[in-house]
Amino acid sequence: MPKNIGIDLGTTNSCISYLEGREALIVPNPEGARVIPTVIAQTHEKKRIFGNAAKRQAITNSRNTIWGIKRLIGRKFNSPEVREISKRVGYDLVEAANGDIKIKMGDSLYSTEEISGMFLGYLKGIAENYLGEALGDTVITVPAFFNDAQRQATKVAGEIAGLNITRIINEPTAALIAYGQKIKKNGLYAVYDLGGGTFDISIVEVNGDIYKVVSTLGDTFLGGSDFDAQICDWIFHEVERETTVDLRDSRDVVQRVIQIAEKAKIELSFDQETLISIPYLHHFNDGTNYHFQKKLTRSHLESFTMDYIERTQELIRTSLNDIQVKPEQIERVVLVGGQSRMPLIFAKMSAFFGKPPDIQINPEEAVAQGAALQSEIIRGKVRDLLLLDVTPLSLGVETKGDSFTRIIERNSTIPTKKSMIFTTITDNQTTVKIHVLQGERSTASGNKSLGFFNLVGIPQSLRGIPQIDVTFEIDANGIVRVSAQDKATGLTQSMKIQPASGLSPEEIEKIVEDAKKYEEQDRNELRLVRDKLQLKEEWETVKFYYQRYIEKLSPHDGAEIDALISRCEEALKGDDMALLETLLKKMKNYRNVINSILTSEFSK
Ligand code: AMP
Repeated sequence: MPKNIGIDLGTTNSCISYLEGREALIVPNPEGARVIPTVIAQTHEKKRIFGNAAKRQAITNSRNTIWGIKRLIGRKFNSPEVREISKRVGYDLVEAANGDIKIKMGDSLYSTEEISGMFLGYLKGIAENYLGEALGDTVITVPAFFNDAQRQATKVAGEIAGLNITRIINEPTAALIAYGQKIKKNGLYAVYDLGGGTFDISIVEVNGDIYKVVSTLGDTFLGGSDFDAQICDWIFHEVERETTVDLRDSRDVVQRVIQIAEKAKIELSFDQETLISIPYLHHFNDGTNYHFQKKLTRSHLESFTMDYIERTQELIRTSLNDIQVKPEQIERVVLVGGQSRMPLIFAKMSAFFGKPPDIQINPEEAVAQGAALQSEIIRGKVRDLLLLDVTPLSLGVETKGDSFTRIIERNSTIPTKKSMIFTTITDNQTTVKIHVLQGERSTASGNKSLGFFNLVGIPQSLRGIPQIDVTFEIDANGIVRVSAQDKATGLTQSMKIQPASGLSPEEIEKIVEDAKKYEEQDRNELRLVRDKLQLKEEWETVKFYYQRYIEKLSPHDGAEIDALISRCEEALKGDDMALLETLLKKMKNYRNVINSILTSEFSK
């Protein structure tokens, strides 16, 4: 059975984990590092590089070194957060026609999903290489406060990377799952997660093997890089005081100083003071150079960053107030995220909760470990752990060829809202039937029908042109509302369903077991339907152009295509998968021949 993995896709660093028995282990990168900088770059030689290699050359190639992508994903160009980050990064951000962000790397513009997808592809390669086999499923974590667009975009990025994403889960939840084996007592647990770019506080109620997230609160713009920025500010202020030169506008200098500031910050987690030394920081017009050298103490750093730590404390207070819980009622506190290694945070949290926090699992690895565990919980390999407040079964719609397209995945925490864009399958189709289903089978007919409705009045156009936005929304009570909207006209239809009610855990288990049993059969059935549809499409196209451009084809090609058209017609009546696949390959070849004729015709 291929190994599943969990990915903590961090703002600054990422981490990959997999399960060996019940133990979550870390996949190191080829250099042996257990956390991998979330950085991508295109070198001057137009080579794409990732991780440490990309981070190392950031100073000399800041325009083409992309970092902090997690702060941009799923956001619109015109948001305050994006304006803020564009000031900090060395690369260019451009507004796409639809208001999305495009990132310039080399001579090309990429969406945030593409960039994130490239990076996830790199992680996939590392994992495959290390594990020596193709991967099974993947669970990716996101901050608890990520909205649907950010979650969707992360999932899309995973799909671009060719990963089979079975779930996007919240980082604090993942951390507690990792601690699950060490947590023996029932009660309320707090997860304090301060990473490179985001902060989350989650309160989780543990009752036996049942984990229930009772409160989460966070700030998507508060993290370790803000701490680095404070040190940078201090350095630039000191430089200006000594030289009257303001270096804040020079991108390459800022990148260089940020890296040095981060290094100093980490050193101050271990030592009381550190020497910051930046040779050749500035060249004066008279040919002389300025070298920066100054001592920074831990207490200095603490005074720069106290506001951030207090802000996290404020959010914890609000979070506890929301559920009317006092700090001393919290059983244990778990620290997660690299920035939580700062000694002042440990001290502040000890004082706040009246007990020292847990740091048994490396704070930078706990989330990935939890994600790996969760990927196996979904597969059913790890059983004695259940997450509450989740949808028991997947919800979705029927699509072409008896397929079931999942829109809300089983075990998604609720309330939740997910959308997907669909289109028409025949020319001039004016009605779309939305058939809502629940279950784990990949065929529509293998799942439970919850009802259907029609979206009528779609303006006539070619198949594939209309954009129908289908939205599933589950409220806290488990009530599902499904709506479909034609994006061009705004025309909307919807229905309300009471899902899952009445299904006992045994029934749910049976549905999942059945799904597994039928997996192979469903896959074959779907492949057959898909192959047939594809062949039919190719056959129609080739036949159409063959009749029009017969005189342009060589006699050999003409005769071959003619024979192929008849063979396809016959094959489409049967279920011989091998034959369908052979013919499909041949048809695709001839489609290319026809395409080249069309290209030369149109370029005349
Ligand atoms: P993460 O997103 O969890 O990988 O956290 C990354 C952040 O943790 C970065 O801002 C790092 O600078 C910071 N970090 C890592 N190790 C330490 C440390 N020992 N002390 C303080 N901050 C750290």
